Amino acid sequence: MMQTSGQALIQIDQVTKTYRLGKVEVQAIRGVSLAINKGEMVAIVGASGSGKSSFMNILGCLDRPTTGKYFLDGHDVGKMNDNALAGIRRDKIGFVFQQFNLLQRMSAIDNVALPLVYANGKSRRQRAIQTLERVGLGKRGKHRPVELSGGEQQRVAIARALINNPSLLLADEPTGNLDSRVGAEILRLFQELHDKEGISIIFVTHDPAVSAISPRVVTFKDGMIISDEVKRKVAV
Ligand code: ADP
Ligand code: MG
Repeated sequence: MMQTSGQALIQIDQVTKTYRLGKVEVQAIRGVSLAINKGEMVAIVGASGSGKSSFMNILGCLDRPTTGKYFLDGHDVGKMNDNALAGIRRDKIGFVFQQFNLLQRMSAIDNVALPLVYANGKSRRQRAIQTLERVGLGKRGKHRPVELSGGEQQRVAIARALINNPSLLLADEPTGNLDSRVGAEILRLFQELHDKEGISIIFVTHDPAVSAISPRVVTFKDGMIISDEVKRKVAV
C-alpha cells in the first residue's frame, strides 16, 4: 500500500467525476485538488448543483473518481474495487446524515453497536455504552429512536459513526433536520470531538452555523473549488 507523506488524511489530485446519461455526459467534478490534514475540521459549501454531493460520495468511498487520484489515510482508493471500497468505508469513515438513519426497532445501544461486526456480544455492548457516554447520552441507551428527541437521535448517529474509531467523520447536513437551538448543541458536540479528541471532521452543508464553527471553509462552484479559506478560531 502506498503511503502519503506527513499528516495528510486526504490527498486529492486533479479529480474529475463524469456521469453518463445515455449519450449525454455531465461533468459534476472538473478537476479538484485538495489536501486535508489529520485533525482538521472543514466545511464544504456551495450552491445546489455545484458538485458537493458528488465530491462527498468520492470522499466517503461511496463512488470512485472518473480520473485523478484520491489517497485516504495513505490508501490509494481511486482504483479500488467495490469490496475494497466497502472495507475502507467501514474501517476509516464514520458517516453522519441529515436524516439520522437509525433503525427504529433497535435500542440506541444496538444502533451504535451495529458497525462492530467482529466484536462479541458483551464487548459490543460495553463499547456502545462508552461511545454513547462520549456524546452525552450515557443514560439513554435502552431507548428506541422514537423515544428520543431529534437532537438525541443525532447524538446516537454520531456515536454509531465514532464506534470504530474512524480516521474521518463525514457529516452531510448534520443540522438539517434540527431547529437552530438543538443544531447549535450538535455543533458544540462536533466542536468538542474536534478540540478534545482531535477527530477529523468534514461537513457538507448549506447551514451558515456549520461553516461558522469550521476553521476551514472550501467553496464549490460548477464542479470546481473557487475558494479555500482558513479562519482564526471562533466560538459557537
Ligand atoms: P450538489 O450536491 O452541490 O447539489 P451534485 O454533486 O448533486 O451537486 O450535482 C452536480 C452535478 O452533477 C449536477 O449538474 C447534477 O445534476 C449532476 N449529477 C449528480 N448526480 C448525478 C447522477 N447520478 N447522474 C447524472 N448527473 C448527476
Ligand atoms: Mg447535494
